[in-house]
Amino acid sequence: MQCEVCGRSIKGKTFKAIIEGARLVVCPDCALLGSMSWELKPSEQRKPRAKVHRPIKQKSRFVMKRQSPLEPTLELVADFGTRIRQAREANGFSHEDLGRRINEKISVIRKLESHKMKPDNKLAGKLQHALKIKLLVPPTRKKLPKELLATTPKAVTLGDLIGHRERSSEETK
Ligand SMILES: [Zn+2]
Repeated sequence: MQCEVCGRSIKGKTFKAIIEGARLVVCPDCALLGSMSWELKPSEQRKPRAKVHRPIKQKSRFVMKRQSPLEPTLELVADFGTRIRQAREANGFSHEDLGRRINEKISVIRKLESHKMKPDNKLAGKLQHALKIKLLVPPTRKKLPKELLATTPKAVTLGDLIGHRERSSEETK
């Protein structure tokens, strides 16, 4: 067996290396010149392919579960900005004081109070705690269909559909 790079006869182990794009059988010395062994390549490709399939399926299933909540979701009150401002003033906090307490920027507090930004559940939770107010309330489901019937008798809105779905999924639980 001769090394395809240096031409010496190889005693013992031969190496398969990729050198400048060519697949060569080489001696141990010349194997060091190669960027990688071409024997490893096919098996390296096979392994990740087999592994990748399953996690993707599990992930999509997980996402679907999260879209139909098992526990009752809380809704943000419509007048959250007013509630935050009133509670902040009642406590004698400035924007800065409140920002420091909940570890948020003053600009965030201002946006919340002027309804330019909705707090996510985490932020709403912090505000509730700092100001001792309610920002997240259980959905008012009994009220919703009546309002929809009164204003738009036959139209089915997206909110209506979601409301029905949530209710039926809870009943089956
Ligand atoms: Zn060689």
